[in-house]
Amino acid sequence: MAAPTSAPAITPQRVRAIRRRLLDWYEAHQQPFPWRPGEGRARDPYAAMVAAVAAQQTQMPRVLEIYERWMAAYPTLEALARADRADVLRTWGRAGYPRRAVHLHEAARICIEQHRGEMPRDLDALLALPGVGPFTAAIVRCFGFGEDSVAIDTNVVRLVGRLVLGDLQPTRESSPAAVLEAATRLMPRGEASRWNPALMDFGARVCAARPRCAECPLATLCAARTRFASGEVAEPVRAQGAFGGSDREARGRILAALRASDVPLREAVLLRDLASDEAERERLARLVGALAADGLAWRARGRVGLGAPAPSPAPRGRAGGKGAPRRARPRMRVR
Ligand code: SF4
Repeated sequence: MAAPTSAPAITPQRVRAIRRRLLDWYEAHQQPFPWRPGEGRARDPYAAMVAAVAAQQTQMPRVLEIYERWMAAYPTLEALARADRADVLRTWGRAGYPRRAVHLHEAARICIEQHRGEMPRDLDALLALPGVGPFTAAIVRCFGFGEDSVAIDTNVVRLVGRLVLGDLQPTRESSPAAVLEAATRLMPRGEASRWNPALMDFGARVCAARPRCAECPLATLCAARTRFASGEVAEPVRAQGAFGGSDREARGRILAALRASDVPLREAVLLRDLASDEAERERLARLVGALAADGLAWRARGRVGLGAPAPSPAPRGRAGGKGAPRRARPRMRVR
């Protein structure tokens, strides 16, 4: 049976009690992550974007590590926009899903070129940036601009889906529309900067994959509590396929080899060093093409490099003259 697409009614008293208990819990357990405003930390939409992009499918200790390394290298949008793509990918390192680093780099260039060097506040303009979906846009608007935007990640889906909809495994069972509606009703106006992280942290630490209902301050208000108490269990969400031997793992090996070299590599040598037989060489060659299509690598004249190729210098004495090679127009102007 399809999940209902709207949330059930929730009384104002229950909404008030949920808000109070969750914010009390957050007050006692909050972690002062540097991208969250408060306690002397100013609002920074760029920092919020970096953190939200880094947080996609990544555990929080790893997010913090990526964030600190990234912000040390590129503390502003302008610094990031001016950076070389290969350096950006080296800074991202082995943090997983390097396409996110490319997205951040492209987004910074667009902000510099099209938004007067600043992160846009407008939702549609944010969603038009590479790699920015509803969650990242909501985080930028909430932490960066103090807007009442509802940020929904998997922790929030799990918590709201259980608390309001009564589902046990909401990431699989609940309708996204119903979760969004319920989360929007719960949000206290003017409190998004505390409310969103409260939901995310509570979903990660209390209403986790295995919920800790016995110590949950929301237990008496929760629609799923009696189901869990009667012995029902949340079916585990299917884990991602094995990493070893996957294309993702092979792409990581190719990128690691490119990151380790200061100069472009001969593609034939790269493939020979990484592959044990002809079939594997063909697979890796296909993956080099996919990395190039994703903006993570380039290949030309038998060589492969990290990021984008450096522009060729104009021949001496002919720059701009008749017959001089036409220089590619820069995609964006960085002021
Ligand atoms: Fe989650 Fe259990 Fe608390 Fe309900 S009672 S919100 S299921 S931890």
